[in-house]
Amino acid sequence: MLRIALMLIILLPLLAAPIAYSQSASTGHQSVLDVNSMDPSVDPCADFFTYSCGGWLKKNPIPPDKTGWGLSSKLADDNRVLLREILEEAAAPAPEKDPVKQKIGDYYTACMDESAIDAAGTAVLKTELDRIGRMHSKRDIASLVARMPNRGSLFDLQSDQDFKDSTQVIAEVDQDGLGLPDRDYYVKTDPKSVELRQAYLAHVQKMFELLGDAPGVVTTEAQAVMRIETALANGSLTQVERRNPKLLYHKMTRKQLEALSPSFHWKQYFSGTGQSGLRSLNVTAPEFFKAMHALLQKEDLESWKAYLRWHVVHANAPYLSSAFLNADFEFFGKTLSGAQELEPRWKRCVNYADNDLGEALGQAYAQRAFPPEAKQRAQEMVKEIEQAMEHDIEGLSWMSPETKQKALEKLHTVANKIGYPDKWRDYRALTIARDDELGNVLRARDFEFHRQLAKIGKPVDRGEWSMTPPTVNAYYSPQLNDINFPAGILQPPFFDPKADDAPNYGDMGATIGHELTHGFDDEGRQFDAQGNLRDWWTPEDGKRFEQRASCISDQYSQYVAVDDIKVNGQLTMGENVADLGGLVLAYMAWQNQTGGKKLDPIDGFTPEQRFFIGYGQGWCAETRDETKRMYATIDPHSPDKYRANGVVSDTPEFQQAFQCKAGSAMVRENRCRVW
Ligand SMILES: [Zn+2]
Repeated sequence: MLRIALMLIILLPLLAAPIAYSQSASTGHQSVLDVNSMDPSVDPCADFFTYSCGGWLKKNPIPPDKTGWGLSSKLADDNRVLLREILEEAAAPAPEKDPVKQKIGDYYTACMDESAIDAAGTAVLKTELDRIGRMHSKRDIASLVARMPNRGSLFDLQSDQDFKDSTQVIAEVDQDGLGLPDRDYYVKTDPKSVELRQAYLAHVQKMFELLGDAPGVVTTEAQAVMRIETALANGSLTQVERRNPKLLYHKMTRKQLEALSPSFHWKQYFSGTGQSGLRSLNVTAPEFFKAMHALLQKEDLESWKAYLRWHVVHANAPYLSSAFLNADFEFFGKTLSGAQELEPRWKRCVNYADNDLGEALGQAYAQRAFPPEAKQRAQEMVKEIEQAMEHDIEGLSWMSPETKQKALEKLHTVANKIGYPDKWRDYRALTIARDDELGNVLRARDFEFHRQLAKIGKPVDRGEWSMTPPTVNAYYSPQLNDINFPAGILQPPFFDPKADDAPNYGDMGATIGHELTHGFDDEGRQFDAQGNLRDWWTPEDGKRFEQRASCISDQYSQYVAVDDIKVNGQLTMGENVADLGGLVLAYMAWQNQTGGKKLDPIDGFTPEQRFFIGYGQGWCAETRDETKRMYATIDPHSPDKYRANGVVSDTPEFQQAFQCKAGSAMVRENRCRVW
């Protein structure tokens, strides 16, 4: 989804429902620097990640229901314990409940009622499935797709800020419609990819069997799905292409879109989505819509019925009876991601509530988990990092004064959003029933779909958040030019206002610097202070940036992601630039803050060493091989180990702090540096 493409984050978010199964519980947070998490037998100059995290990794094997396990996923899991308390309290009978509590309580109650869910089977989807069954012409596909918003059906319709005029919200259509995580899964020819496609085909067939289709038909249906998705994949942009905003911007009239794919009944589609009056929009991937046109002509009605029925059941499988749920987990959880068991229901229900009613649930969370002093300290730290970036830009040897002035203007325009939104989302128009889990999910999805579309033609809401308060993550939006730090990440072990400065700056300071640097990475730098896609660089400065960024791309392309798969230096370039910039800025800010003061060693580590160990421990995590393989294709972040080692090996202050000899693995001969 485009919104994800243009939201530059620090950690990969939990993937959307069908491929989630990520992230169990024990509370008691460790501190921002924990010496017991280290492995002192490892030389910090040889492998800083294992030196910082080896102890933790030994004591914390990946739980069977997780696809990876680390300090951030553990914190997210701990957050879920508190969210469960909030939800159970809201679900308990009470004489008078405020409407927000009522809503989240009813949602959680319906979600936890496993026997009702099992009894319901696919009843809630019957209307949709019957409608597909009754189609008598391919012209009807459009009105069906319009009824299935955000259910992975063919493509997405959403709203977005106009890339060239960030004050305007316009409509946008984007590629989608695949069951596997990315287009690459359909086109790669290596043995592992071929094997995965065979397993996927068997899974699709299994779901048709569960729907009660005749044994003679299910194979034909699954093959039709595979053919249609493969053709859509061939028309889709790659992940690397999607990092280039210029390739995603094709504003056109509705007539032009209709000319791209005339075999799709756009009039019916826009009328079905309440957008009859739409005259122009952004088409992110014109080639995709051309491919869709050809496909609509080529494939027969029965194949399209199979495709649409698959997507209805696939998008909703996690909320269906156990037969569907388990089959879905077998493929997406086990085969594709490597998890061994399904997470307990309550954890899944907390995730769904966070997904569907995040700002209702988040209100109580923020009240309980985010004390005013944490907010205040985080605000101060953000200001300090911004000041550091100001000095950094002023002192750059490779940038002309002309471009520096524009860069400073952009920096000074960045909006800082900390903890939670000033104004909470209003869910009054969303009906939640205490006994209808799938109905709630479907209504919440439609609510969100229409909430997004209602923005078209209205002024941009700069206060809006794209992450919920309990989220352990952070992001930068190039179109809003803002940095966002949910309450969920502003706590130990990532941030502790009570701990000493060094590891706090090394960890949370570097995260703040990371998000800020995103405004100036290879993608973010293409947007100006107002969030418009507009080149504000002199051509020479642009070239010098690219040279420096390519040093980083070359560096990370050497690292092995898993087995014989290398890290994609192009896909991860923006994140790697942000990681390095983040640490540089955090170090500068920390030095400004403590410069001149005599700081004593703690636990036998100098303040400089504590800064870097704080940074290294931010990445303590291990991931299952299956998920590593998936991330190598879809995740713009490098594996955690390299987010630690890659960055410190480019940093002279690290070499000095640990007295590393030239030639050590953590001392790169040709250091990269952008910001
Ligand atoms: Zn990032």
